[in-house]
Amino acid sequence: EQLVVCTDAARTYGTGPGAVVAVHGASCAVTAGAGIAVVGPSGSGKSTLLHLMAGLDRPTAGRVAHPGLPEGSLPRHIGVVFQGPSLLPPLTAVENVALPLRIDGVAQAEADARAFAALEELGLEALASKLPDELSAGQAQRVAVARVLARRPRLILADEPTGQLDRESAGQVMGVLLAAAATLGAAVLVSTHDMRVADALPTRWSMADGRLVLPDGTAEEDRAE
Ligand code: ADP
Ligand code: ADP
Repeated sequence: EQLVVCTDAARTYGTGPGAVVAVHGASCAVTAGAGIAVVGPSGSGKSTLLHLMAGLDRPTAGRVAHPGLPEGSLPRHIGVVFQGPSLLPPLTAVENVALPLRIDGVAQAEADARAFAALEELGLEALASKLPDELSAGQAQRVAVARVLARRPRLILADEPTGQLDRESAGQVMGVLLAAAATLGAAVLVSTHDMRVADALPTRWSMADGRLVLPDGTAEEDRAE
């Protein structure tokens, strides 16, 4: 089952001579349960591609479709992890995790229970009542993963989730990210320029100068061509 299909999807920033083609016609598909690293140097278009897949941005040419996800509820089914700090400073870790559930309409008591369960599932229960200021960057990023897990998405998109972390924290964040995806049976796609991160995932795509290259032997159905 295909969760996201990009068909010649392109994104150009600006117009005229100064226009930047961040992504040239990319064709690819993410199937249920996939584990994909998108590897490429800074500026190669990884972040733009992820935003297109997440529905946070629209292609300027071509198409991005979500055939396996219910229409009109992408944010509910796609969990996004960003590179930098993303927790709301006035809220504790468990309140941060519960907030999207409350926005989804889950009652307070159930949202709190599910938020705590998500933290527990990832071994983070000791952080539950800490404020973001009291967490290291790596701890905060693991809480951000718990926030994604609590919502039970079918697809997790992580944009350089370890980009600002030291090696040890990077390994811990990858550990909880892969554990969250495994718990949910969700597909996970991680952009990175760190080969250690890429090595943690079974499939590797690469990007260079806005061009997406899929590995030899990728099944036709995953190429969306
Ligand atoms: P990566 O995630 O691989 O670092 P990005 O997708 O962030 O790459 O960027 C790809 C290209 O698009 C780069 O040349 C970048 O400068 C450009 N770019 C990204 N975002 C914008 C923007 N909002 N406006 C103009 N150019 C942008
Ligand atoms: P485990 O103890 O199960 O190996 P780790 O938390 O050490 O779990 O690593 C989880 C995953 O993250 C592993 O698949 C590993 O390849 C990857 N990994 C480990 N260290 C790093 C690192 N410094 N940066 C990126 N990925 C890492």
